[in-house]
Amino acid sequence: MLSKNQKILVTGAGGFIGGALISALRKQGYRDLRGVDIKPFDQWYQRSEDVENISMDLNLKENCERAAKGADEIYNLAANMGGMGFIEANKALCMLSVLINTHMLQAALKHGAKRFFYASSACVYNGDKQKTFEAPSLKEEDAYPALAEDGYGWEKLFSERMCRHFREDFRLYTRVARFHNVYGPWGTWFGGREKAPAAICRKVIEAKISGKNEIEIWGSGNQTRSFMFIDDCTEGIQKIMDSEILEPINLGSSEAVTINQLVDITEGIAGIKLKRNYDLSAPKGVNGRNSDNTLIKKYLGWEPSTPLRVGMEKTYRWIYDGSRAHRFEWGWKRRIDGSTTSTWLGSVANRAWSGSLLFHPRACTHPASERMDCSLTMWLFCNKWAMSFSQSVRPWLYFVMLIGCAGVVQWQNRSFPSFGRRFDSCRPLQIFAQAGIPPSNREQDHQPVLPEYEDLERLNPF
Ligand code: NAD
Repeated sequence: MLSKNQKILVTGAGGFIGGALISALRKQGYRDLRGVDIKPFDQWYQRSEDVENISMDLNLKENCERAAKGADEIYNLAANMGGMGFIEANKALCMLSVLINTHMLQAALKHGAKRFFYASSACVYNGDKQKTFEAPSLKEEDAYPALAEDGYGWEKLFSERMCRHFREDFRLYTRVARFHNVYGPWGTWFGGREKAPAAICRKVIEAKISGKNEIEIWGSGNQTRSFMFIDDCTEGIQKIMDSEILEPINLGSSEAVTINQLVDITEGIAGIKLKRNYDLSAPKGVNGRNSDNTLIKKYLGWEPSTPLRVGMEKTYRWIYDGSRAHRFEWGWKRRIDGSTTSTWLGSVANRAWSGSLLFHPRACTHPASERMDCSLTMWLFCNKWAMSFSQSVRPWLYFVMLIGCAGVVQWQNRSFPSFGRRFDSCRPLQIFAQAGIPPSNREQDHQPVLPEYEDLERLNPF
């Protein structure tokens, strides 16, 4: 185990697992952390002020060397990845992640990193062993003879081998875990890269809010999978890094469910029952897959154990809040995990403004009114621009923006006094009605007139 002041590098730090790992390390008291990701900072899911954050492309060797310089321990989580829809449509892109791991291994060796962790995947397993729906538990040896998932899986298998040979030939301390479907708060939940648990939460929420009461499911819904909660994943990563486990090992939950059962769980959490439409032409991956945890239990006396229902409740709640924020704030996403005053001030300014938009009487406009949309759009563009400034400058920018947007609203109010003062289509009431939090006598008193979800998406400038 490392002392708390040694330097730790996490690649893919702007992503789901990388962000969660940095967060876990911070909580454990590690202070010399470096996070690297190709994404611009405003797209990182979590980012902390007290971490050395770098936005750069780790496909390039010189950038890997810069990232690895001085690092005692390296967690390589950067990769092009996503759910089945993404990896089936982007095989070459997924295979190009081989550049990241290759250059990171070389850089780790060059700069004398003490330990190197590589995030592999259950997609390395032989497809022939995953043809039945009975959720075959995959043992580590089932990766060979090799018949991995085309593209993404082959890259993972190759990179696993590369880690092994760097260990054997160059004595680099490498550890490899094969993750099985990780889910939880701060994961991707829209945009095409999301995985089944997040996608199903989002679809259930959409169905509930829109009142359509239907859900589209990819495949027959009989595919079996196991899903590991993010906290188990970060704990397992560290345990494996600290262990004597030399060969790639499963890191996944052994609680297998069908996709239909996953939908049942999500519907139960949402308190709703939906009509299911099965899209048999959509990408669905292998028929059955589960994690055999015999080996990890033998080595560590531990396995991921968060019950799916518990993890899904936390995930659903987080996506629900996010989707409400997405609607309420028209595309804002809270991506900053710091607790510094400047962040706090920025977020208070954000919330004060969105609250005033929601509850100001003049915000109670008919959807046809463009008054609030105009100032909202202005605010959102300014907000995106402000995100590119450092956190110490941002509160001042928010302050100026707040005055500016308030001025726009005032000007609109004066110029068009009769425009859109309809309490019967009051925005908060619409939102409560649509979100399933009924104000009293909702049906009788108010006819919610919220634009269609697609319209919101279209109007959302991000
Ligand atoms: P993620 O997509 O949220 O994070 C990966 C991050 O890597 C992204 O933020 C991305 O921008 C970054 N990245 C991609 N190319 C880069 C480059 N050239 N330079 C720098 N950064 C780059 O995915 P995740 O779920 O956090 O996955 C982390 C790792 O775990 C990946 O290696 C993934 O293959 C593996 N894995 C994840 C799962 C899962 O269920 N989430 C399952 C199996 C394996």
